[in-house]
Amino acid sequence: MKNYKITLIKGDGIGPEIIDEAVKVLDAVASLCDFHFNYDEALMGGVAYDITGDPLPQETITKSLQSDAVLFGAIGGPKWDDLPREKRPESGLLRFRKELGVYANLRPAVVYDELINASSLKPEIIKGVDIMVVRELIGGIYFGEPKGRTDEKGWNTMVYTRDEIVRIAHQAFRIAQKRDKRVCSIDKANVLDVSQLWRDVVTEVSAEYPDVELTHMYVDNAAMQLVLNPKQFDVMLTGNIFGDILSDEASMLCGSIGLLPSASVGEKIGVYEPIHGSAPDIAGQGIANPIATIASASMMLRYALGEVEAADKVDAAIKKTLSEGYRTGDLAQFDAKEVCSTSEIGSIIANYIEK
Ligand code: NAD
Repeated sequence: MKNYKITLIKGDGIGPEIIDEAVKVLDAVASLCDFHFNYDEALMGGVAYDITGDPLPQETITKSLQSDAVLFGAIGGPKWDDLPREKRPESGLLRFRKELGVYANLRPAVVYDELINASSLKPEIIKGVDIMVVRELIGGIYFGEPKGRTDEKGWNTMVYTRDEIVRIAHQAFRIAQKRDKRVCSIDKANVLDVSQLWRDVVTEVSAEYPDVELTHMYVDNAAMQLVLNPKQFDVMLTGNIFGDILSDEASMLCGSIGLLPSASVGEKIGVYEPIHGSAPDIAGQGIANPIATIASASMMLRYALGEVEAADKVDAAIKKTLSEGYRTGDLAQFDAKEVCSTSEIGSIIANYIEK
């Protein structure tokens, strides 16, 4: 029997509650698909700072790199907001991504038919939306040098090297090959030299993927097109800051932040996590929606472990749960038959995993 080693980083706020439900579902699917998980917990965020004085202890990096994949909840909260920047939970997370070399952030934005009314857009515009945003995660303006500030001036630098663009472009094209075979690369090449390099290199890489159609779009137009006609997109490939903004916009097409998963992958390891934060306002109440985390666990099965059949089973169980009308409070007003707790939704999904 195959044994997978998974590092669990529960983090702060609702993190522990939602990770526990994902583990419940993972164990249910493993027992049916003939593999087994060994979990090892590691600390990150405010809880890590409280215990060790560091929001990212070295042990967490070591454990993560020795595992097959990392499943992560969320970090942060008002308790740690006044710490010096390098001690804050968010700094730990940025450092974690950099240390693990997870350069590609994959964010699917899929509209569930059952929740079509949860979107702020008209049903005819969003029905059938299925987008994968591929965002470069450890380069660009968030990391570029020089950066700094005085009382009079602040500055950051958007830098991309050819190698950074090549590797993220390959990710996008390989993902598109498994989908509808279309990549739209988003940049600001009409104004930024760094974007012109991005556009040229993505075009060069595309020659290796003749089965995938490549188009380019300026980021301001992309922001507009996402709400005007989101179905035109299959894979959206973009740099760090543009991807940060566009992936939030794309996710909101789907209605609730509690539904959407993500993966951050590199050469060595992948980190699978919901797109939302630690939701301190509802932590400990048992009302958080665990679906984004369970869907992240499904992405882990699919992309990190190659357990495609198991991932399909989890996705089907999530869909069935929603179509039967089971909802957490955040979705209560959208055709709910029964409003359930975090743990009840986890159990329903686990029970709906089919042989
Ligand atoms: P948030 O995503 O935590 O919450 C925004 C709103 O969405 C809140 O009202 C919250 O209750 C709700 N929400 C989020 N997830 C939900 C879920 N699963 N079910 C139901 N409702 C849900 O964003 P925020 O309030 O801006 O940030 C809170 C903390 O999280 C901050 O400290 C922030 O830095 C941190 N954060 C962490 C991550 C991460 O760990 N990857 C990402 C974003 C924010």
